[in-house]
Amino acid sequence: MDISCDVLIVGGGLVGSSLACALDGQGFDVVLVEATPLREAAPPSFDERNLALAEASLDALAALGVGRHIVSPPAPIRHIHVSSQGDFGSVRLDARERGLERFGAVVVARELGAALEARLAELSALRHLRPARLDQIAQTAEYIEALLATPEGELRVRAQMLVAADGTDSGLRDRLGIGAEVHDYEQTLFVSVVTAAKAPADTAYERFTAQGPLALLPLAGGRLGSVCTVPSAQADAVRALNDDAYRDFLQQRFGWRVGRFGRVGRRSAYALRKVVAERLVATRAVLVGNAAQSLHPIGAQGFNLGLRDALTLAEVLVAARQAGEDIGSERVLARHVQRRLPDRAATLELSHGLVRLFGNSFAPLRLLRSAGLLALDRFPSLADRLVRESMGYGSDVSQLARKVVA
Ligand SMILES: Cc1cc2nc3c(=O)[nH]c(=O)nc-3n(C[C@H](O)[C@H](O)[C@H](O)COP(=O)(O)OP(=O)(O)OC[C@H]3O[C@@H](n4cnc5c(N)ncnc54)[C@H](O)[C@@H]3O)c2cc1C
Repeated sequence: MDISCDVLIVGGGLVGSSLACALDGQGFDVVLVEATPLREAAPPSFDERNLALAEASLDALAALGVGRHIVSPPAPIRHIHVSSQGDFGSVRLDARERGLERFGAVVVARELGAALEARLAELSALRHLRPARLDQIAQTAEYIEALLATPEGELRVRAQMLVAADGTDSGLRDRLGIGAEVHDYEQTLFVSVVTAAKAPADTAYERFTAQGPLALLPLAGGRLGSVCTVPSAQADAVRALNDDAYRDFLQQRFGWRVGRFGRVGRRSAYALRKVVAERLVATRAVLVGNAAQSLHPIGAQGFNLGLRDALTLAEVLVAARQAGEDIGSERVLARHVQRRLPDRAATLELSHGLVRLFGNSFAPLRLLRSAGLLALDRFPSLADRLVRESMGYGSDVSQLARKVVA
């Protein structure tokens, strides 16, 4: 059987699903394709990772009708503490001092995924094909055609435009002939929930050490989401530690700022790569989310940035449709690219720059970053810029995320 639509979204992870929500009610015929089967398995990123969501992202998720489906209330971040092991200087950012209720909040990816799925189920106009895997594409000047593998057999979908939201190892990116710059950080990230004797409320910590960065995020019930980077050569040894030994390892890496760590929960591990697509568009196709760029998670920007990709794309498509334009045309896609590039470049620089700067033990660099930490602490305008960037208000902000733009 063959079907046709206006927008074909490949990948129903966090970003592709958000885009489907953003396009709802805008008069588009949308098909969303996700490879994992409904109910039997969740998309791989709907796991136990803790997502620090910028305030702009929380506003957008509320506007998309997703926020009300998140089961546990997002844990607010009202204070941020940044330090570097062995350097003098640290940064303390306080939301209230900046006239803000909070900088953002933390949700578990599994719960955000479930909320997105609940919202998708409410979208009666959406055709959600799951499980279905995109196998091949053919591009023409007038349309793009995709061949999907489904349990019922092959399905051909003809679309005015296609969105690749198929994640870091995007097969679509390759099929569209878009190369990617890959940087292996040679680091593995361990994520687990931990308790601590003196964890202050609503406080996120970011600590840079010679072995890689470490973060603690506030969670509901006074627990902390720990995110600990280790050089990949040591990953097997860390994986093999029992819970008590891993707790001691975390303590030694993080220090005693939140007192003694208590119980640590189940650990998951992620190998870290930066993957940056050379272009965001091809004929009648756009890359969004991790397919467009995958960042080091320590800056907590990946989904926030991907969501902004989705929101901007939705806005550009709606405006094009209202103006009677062909939504897959080069002109329309170029408008999306023009709006996304500055934010993308700034966020990549923020995330990768932090890892590079703080991962280096070269003495002059260490002095520089100590000076940088002190400067951030003493000069509110510098800190304000950092805060605006990480809250999602750094550049071109889409309508759906505008509630509290200062
Ligand atoms: C440990 C960790 C912590 C993180 N913390 C944060 C944080 O605090 N804040 C933040 O903003 N970001 C964070 N991130 C980043 C965030 O998780 C990602 O940016 C986000 O998941 C990207 O979403 P996506 O939809 O682009 O890709 P994915 O979530 O990877 O989804 C891609 C989807 O495409 C599907 N797919 C693939 N190929 C096909 C195909 N051929 N056909 C059909 N479907 C296909 C897959 O099944 C998958 O569901 C973190 C990441 C990690 C690893």
